[in-house]
Amino acid sequence: MARKQIMIDTSWQTSANCLGVDPDLFFPERGASTREAKEVCRGCVVRDDCLEYALANGEKFGIWGGMSERERRRIRRQRAQERAARVIALAGESA
Ligand code: SF4
Repeated sequence: MARKQIMIDTSWQTSANCLGVDPDLFFPERGASTREAKEVCRGCVVRDDCLEYALANGEKFGIWGGMSERERRRIRRQRAQERAARVIALAGESA
């Protein structure tokens, strides 16, 4: 059974561009613009850490690492497909 990875290191947050910014900006109502939040993320030095944290912890809501829920879902799907392809390739090598 696959175990869900939980990433608890949040030290990167001290360098976040969004420190002091209204958190509501990053959790817009359904259908509302995410442009302003993504603009804050664009120049953030911990953007990758933020995105990986959200992916590892299955964050379902909000803008993390400059990406929306839908964009993060796409990355998760892509990575799952890549993992599956690697497993199939490895199985083929050992057969
Ligand atoms: S990437 Fe965006 S949400 Fe994540 S820490 Fe940076 S500014 Fe905040």
